[in-house]
Amino acid sequence: MTDRLVVLGAGVVGTTAAWVAARDHLADEVVLVDPAPGSGASWVAGGMLAPITEAWPGERALLELGAASLARWPGFAAAVEGASGRSVGLRREGTLAVVVDAADREDLDRIVEHLRAWGRDAERLTGRETRRQEPALGPAVRAGLAVPDDLAVDNRLLLAALAAAAERAGVVVRREPATRVTESGGAVAGVALASGEEVRAERVVVAAGAWSGALHPALGGLVRPVKGEILRVRARAGSLPPPTRTVRAAVAGRAVYAVPRDGGRLVLGATQYEAGFDADVTVGGVRDLLADAERVFPGLADYALEESAASFRPGTADNLPVLGPVPGAPEGLLACFGHGRGGILLTALTADVVADLLAGRPVPEESRAAAAARLAPLEVSS
Ligand SMILES: Cc1cc2nc3c(=O)[nH]c(=O)nc-3n(C[C@H](O)[C@H](O)[C@H](O)COP(=O)(O)OP(=O)(O)OC[C@H]3O[C@@H](n4cnc5c(N)ncnc54)[C@H](O)[C@@H]3O)c2cc1C
Repeated sequence: MTDRLVVLGAGVVGTTAAWVAARDHLADEVVLVDPAPGSGASWVAGGMLAPITEAWPGERALLELGAASLARWPGFAAAVEGASGRSVGLRREGTLAVVVDAADREDLDRIVEHLRAWGRDAERLTGRETRRQEPALGPAVRAGLAVPDDLAVDNRLLLAALAAAAERAGVVVRREPATRVTESGGAVAGVALASGEEVRAERVVVAAGAWSGALHPALGGLVRPVKGEILRVRARAGSLPPPTRTVRAAVAGRAVYAVPRDGGRLVLGATQYEAGFDADVTVGGVRDLLADAERVFPGLADYALEESAASFRPGTADNLPVLGPVPGAPEGLLACFGHGRGGILLTALTADVVADLLAGRPVPEESRAAAAARLAPLEVSS
């Protein structure tokens, strides 16, 4: 009998899982199911690989996961590029965290504290010093902090490279929605597709991001959509050149960031709301992003606005991903979702976790906080 693995969801997480499984021959056949591969949060994201400036107070475990994944990123990027023959657009210029209002200086203190706790130091900069490093920054910027070890990636190039690597490794892609994971005698039987067909499988990896909860009753309630809006802009002839590194700013308590892309482009993000699966980009969201970004980059008004987009971060109750067997789910079902605000960053670590889970090896020590086993079984009505 063929040992078939089905992966549900072809964002960065699911495509990585399918590629790793096929590359390492962890199943006889790997099938990746998604009605619109690469169309979810992974398409919309900023692509920052910046655990320290991303972590909020009290999110120690998330910071550690992010740091463990950041350390893996150069190797992961090289492996994806080698397997696909495509660039993922990894950038190594680091992050500059800046503040506009005196009240936001605490943000910088928090980052310094995180870095020190982690055995690293950061360079505190005056407003003038930040402008010397990044002339695109305006006079409103009062202080900053250089975090040189952060990385960034072009998430759209990454998606294309992962898809090519998966295809080369022999992954079969089915472009249709799955409705649920089927089971028999407490074990996975396969996956029901919207067409009515059932794809038989011994193991199923659920990696459908914010949509994962609908795919089996034991997953319901574990993940929710956290809406985010983002803009893409481009410097025009005569515009002030964009910054060369990721800039994260606090403007009157609101976070805004700019991530450079090739061709004078910048990704500006991101709003954050609990609004269910409402995919509209709102006028208020765009206004706030532009107003905050313009305080930091006064030359922005002259840029071309190329795109606005919204998607859904897969949020969990403790902001940590859910990886591995889930209490109350059939044997053979592996969760791989809930990567929240940092799924692009966490993909490098997730790749190793998925490979270990599928091979029956112990997972990396640094990933233990993400184990799905931490979740209590949910009451499921029959
Ligand atoms: C505005 C914004 C900015 C962000 N910026 C960053 C950043 O700078 N750095 C960072 O690390 N992270 C960032 N994130 C978070 C990151 O994008 C996510 O954590 C990550 O993309 C999640 O990847 P995923 O593969 O789990 O989900 P997704 O990319 O959402 O993919 C899920 C896939 O599942 C598919 N699917 C849905 N239903 C079904 C079904 N029934 N059957 C089969 N397939 C299905 C969808 O079509 C989709 O392709 C950002 C997110 C947002 C929204």
